[in-house]
Parts: sequence; structure tokens; C-alpha cells
Amino acid sequence: MDEIIKAISSDGFVSVTAIDSRGLTERARKIHKMTPVVTAALGRTLAAASMIGSSLKKTGASVTVRINGGGPAGVIIAVSDDGGNVRGFVQNPRANVPNKAPGKLDVGEAVGKDGTLSVIKDFCEKEPYTGSIKLASGEIAEDFAVYFAQSEQTPTACALGVFVDRDRTVLAAGGYIAQLLPGAPDSAIDTLERNVSAVGAVTDILKSGSVDTLMESVMDGFLPRVLERSAVEYRCSCSRERFLAAVLSLEKSEIEDMKQKAVPVEVLCQFCDAAYVFEPSELE
Ligand code: ZN
Repeated sequence: MDEIIKAISSDGFVSVTAIDSRGLTERARKIHKMTPVVTAALGRTLAAASMIGSSLKKTGASVTVRINGGGPAGVIIAVSDDGGNVRGFVQNPRANVPNKAPGKLDVGEAVGKDGTLSVIKDFCEKEPYTGSIKLASGEIAEDFAVYFAQSEQTPTACALGVFVDRDRTVLAAGGYIAQLLPGAPDSAIDTLERNVSAVGAVTDILKSGSVDTLMESVMDGFLPRVLERSAVEYRCSCSRERFLAAVLSLEKSEIEDMKQKAVPVEVLCQFCDAAYVFEPSELE
């Protein structure tokens, strides 16, 4: 079961959100039939979007992450609701690039770094809040760290990982966002930096341990207190009604065209494996 936990240090200066997202990443892989490197790219983005979504604290709010790095994978989109349930897609799910070392997927090369990472938070009121940065590496975790530092003025360490098995299934996926809260002393910064380098690859921890093990490793020495724990999953919000409304909002001439052809219209959801079929009579 996929899970997010949030914890805070006993002195209140360090907060960590950590996620185990293996299940939802595997679900995304099956829906989109992605190559391992694209699975890793979308999986990292979904994990980050889920952690950001779970911190929105407003019912009905959502966050959309858009990464456009100019690499062979193309644009990556991930959307999370306020509970951390996510969905997403990649423009070119079958894109591939050589590994950068044996067994090491080159996510940065697939994503590219000539572009932007945008985070759009929609609180269902007036204009959504949008923050955008120039990509640092296209490796995604580093790019989110830059986003938090520049757009939200919060010093952040972020690690994200997806481990894909030889048969292309996802063996482990997840990550964490560790943030320094206002007034954090230099000693807290030093300890956090030490912990982050000691933790290493998050998938090494998640393969054998839990999201708790991951959080406790990042929080070593901080006496963390768990504030919140919630189950998350891959969840699409599409429905027949929504798609029919979308079809009916097309140009009048296009709708006339479809009716004239007198064959059912099939519409596929971009985010999941749902397909909706509408009879010509429904287009009245
Ligand atoms: Zn859907």
C-alpha cells in the first residue's frame, strides 16, 4: 500500500514528508506502457506531486506539475488532489536513452534540462498560484529543490527514486522532501546535510524498509514526531459526463461531422485506461 508520512523534529525546525509510491508508479507504468527511463521520470514527478498535493490543506484543492525539458520524453504532467492521490502522463511514453552506467537510468537525458518546471496550485478560488523555475538538471529531485528554494523561499532537500526491475515492473519508488523552517540554527542545517548524504538512494531503503525507515533516516538525531500518515493511490477523476461535456463543447461543425458519420465516437482519457463511447444520438 502506498503511503505518505509527515514528521517534524522535536525542536520544530525541520519537517520531512516521505512517500512510498511503488504501487501508483507501477499502475502508471501499466496504463501508459512506458520504457523504464520514462517510468522513472514520471514516477519521480508523481511522487513529488503527491507530497505537494498532500500539503495543500484545502478540500477540493489540486496541484499540477508540468515539466518541459526538451528531451526525448517530452512534456511530463502530474496532478494531485489535496489527499496526495495522483495521476499523470508523459508525451512520449516509449522514449528511450542509453543508461548512464550499468543499471543506472539516465532520467536527466530523457527529460532534458533546457526548459522549465512549473507548479500550479489551484485552491478553487480566483487565479491559481503558479511558480516556475528553469530546470537545473532534469533529474527532477534537484529541480524540485530549486523550485522550493526559489519559488517558495524554503531551503529544501529533495530525493526521489524509482527502481525498475529487468522485466520492467517497478520494484521500489518514493522519496522525501525535507525542509528547514524559519529560525533553524546552523547545527540543524549541518545535521540535515549529513543525513541526506548518508541516506543515499531512497529506493535502496524502500526495497527492504518502509516509508518510516526512510523518514527516520533523514531525521536521524532530530527526534521526529509523526504528524500525519495517509494512504495514497493512482486516481483519475475522469467520468462519462465530463467527457460528454467536453465533446459537446467542440465546434458546431465538428459535432455535425460526427453525427453525419453516424458511427459511435470513442474518447480515451489521457491519464488512465478509461475509454468512453458516445452514440451519435447522444451528441444532440
Ligand atoms: Zn481517466
